[in-house]
Amino acid sequence: MRKIDHFIGGASYASGERQGDVFDPNQGNVQAHVNLGTAADLARAMDNARAAQPAWAATNPQRRARVMFKFKELVEANMDALALLLSSEHGKVIADSKGDVQRGLEVIEFACGIPHALKGEHTQGAGPGIDVYSMRQPLGIVAGITPFNFPAMIPMWMFGVAIACGNAFILKPSERDPSVPVRLAELMKEAGLPDGILQVVHGDKEMVDAILDEDDIKAVSFVGSSDIAQYIYSRGTANGKRVQAFGGAKNHGIVMPDADLDQVVNDLAGAAFGSAGERCMALPVVVPVGEKTANGLREKLIPAIEALRVGVSTDADAHYGPVVTAVHRERIETYVQMCADEGGELVIDGRGFKLQGHEEGFFIGPTFFDHVKPNFRSYQEEIFGPVLQMVRADSFEDAVRLPSEHQYGNGVAIFTRNGHAAREFAARVNVGMVGINVPIPVPVAYHTFGGWKRSGFGDINQHGMEGVRFWTKTKTVTQRWPDGSVTGENAFVIPTMG
Ligand code: NAD
Repeated sequence: MRKIDHFIGGASYASGERQGDVFDPNQGNVQAHVNLGTAADLARAMDNARAAQPAWAATNPQRRARVMFKFKELVEANMDALALLLSSEHGKVIADSKGDVQRGLEVIEFACGIPHALKGEHTQGAGPGIDVYSMRQPLGIVAGITPFNFPAMIPMWMFGVAIACGNAFILKPSERDPSVPVRLAELMKEAGLPDGILQVVHGDKEMVDAILDEDDIKAVSFVGSSDIAQYIYSRGTANGKRVQAFGGAKNHGIVMPDADLDQVVNDLAGAAFGSAGERCMALPVVVPVGEKTANGLREKLIPAIEALRVGVSTDADAHYGPVVTAVHRERIETYVQMCADEGGELVIDGRGFKLQGHEEGFFIGPTFFDHVKPNFRSYQEEIFGPVLQMVRADSFEDAVRLPSEHQYGNGVAIFTRNGHAAREFAARVNVGMVGINVPIPVPVAYHTFGGWKRSGFGDINQHGMEGVRFWTKTKTVTQRWPDGSVTGENAFVIPTMG
């Protein structure tokens, strides 16, 4: 059986006793075992990080950026192999795995410009002979804890910026699809990154807690489900760390009466069912405004959903593949039953779907509910599967209220031809990322990513300049080089520039 080991000090490192199963979602069998690490494994990584980080921080930013340029080339050269590996553990189709890698690479491209992003501020002549300047310095050793659903993109969001800023980074990826993160660390080494600057430790809660309790880890970035995000935020900040923790989502797509319904159906099919709905920026709730819009949309949606092709992740014609584990499929099916029991109209039921020749694979067919109500628990909670719920709204005001009052506030989209309605919606909706005729509004790498309410704990977003702020601390220097003409100041009074 294939073994997936930690990557510590620039080399593969196998610890010990505890192992986790990594499944092949297409076939349903265990395909590998992953080391589940302990505090002792983290301590080993910490020693390497402590030894390597000061020299990396002292390496000039342009040289650090060159490692990023080289890494980008290497990832591009290895794109096919990375996408295949990613699909084999996650289950998403190959084209989507390439998108996962590519969206991460876009943050690496941002990190290639780190010399510019790290430039501080300067004030010449803040007082007589006085100049003030600020600099951004790395925090030291930092960590990232990532979810299964983007095993390439989310690690790169974090380590790309953190490492370019001069930190040593310890990555604890999801134990469900841990191979790609290790491959990325190997490619960073090949790109010239010194050993100990990017290390991968595998594990579950035990390793996460060791990270949260390690004094020398100064910041933790987390992406995953909300209850765990809240836990990470509380324990990490109680231990004096800077923490950003992004959680779950239930994104709404508002369809105004003037929207182009054919375009909406095409966008919704991809955004609700792509990657089997296992995206934090998926659109699992559609909110048509008015009966006419709802009926027209339903009529077009049903054949589009029925036409979706579910297949193995290497099937180039498949729209989406299996979900990540059998346990996750069961959880999705429980929510489908719950929504039906709560009174939702189960228009298309994807439960029990079997793919010929892959009967044990973790597949689930597309599922569509109409007449879902805001008081349903199945609406209030995240399902994270290929399930679309339609909640009919009477008015624009209703449509603004639904996502605004939902416990999650990651993303939202509005489909309309009316610029005023779109503008009004974007300004008023209580959600962190908004799409206007864009179904999955994941901001580009040089902007920042972050949800609100239970989708995000902490104040600073991922990547872009917020990422640079998160992974650095600001030092401000006030210097005076008097020319000798100013004398007799009262040194006992707080200095002012008045
Ligand atoms: P998860 O919360 O189960 O796991 C995330 C990480 O936390 C993993 O590394 C895991 O090992 C660790 N973990 C799991 N249980 C833990 C525990 N009890 N204590 C400490 N650590 C623990 O999430 P997942 O199932 O891997 O990913 C899917 C979730 O992530 C969904 O809720 C999705 O919406 C969310 N997500 C959010 C974003 C975002 O940016 N907001 C992006 C992607 C995914």
